[in-house]
Amino acid sequence: MTRRRCQLCSRAVPTDQPAVFVAGRPHHASTRPVSEPPLHRHCAAYALRVCPHLVAGHRSGLAHAEATQYVLLEEHVSPGPDNTLVTHTRLPGEPPRPTDPPSALQHYLAVPDAPWTPADHWPATHH
Ligand SMILES: [Zn+2]
Repeated sequence: MTRRRCQLCSRAVPTDQPAVFVAGRPHHASTRPVSEPPLHRHCAAYALRVCPHLVAGHRSGLAHAEATQYVLLEEHVSPGPDNTLVTHTRLPGEPPRPTDPPSALQHYLAVPDAPWTPADHWPATHH
């Protein structure tokens, strides 16, 4: 995620090519961050055809975004009351707020700079 590497083939997605993100229905028409790393366009096309999870989700409302850039966020987790975990998000390198409890970096999130489109509208030229 931090080095713009494709989650399928692990090679870098060149900055002159879109980084494709695939997410479930809650991401339609939203700017919610995603925890799944980006993909090359051809790797996304392959995954949407053969991955059982994505094929099943394809029918139930997957969305994709083709972003030239994305904002990275860090999701931190802290112990909460009653053995719960509390998550909070901040920009990489941003110091914790004074009120934040000690936390661990759980994972990175991305906010693509492109709109989400239903994955069933995946252009035929991407196959
Ligand atoms: Zn790839």
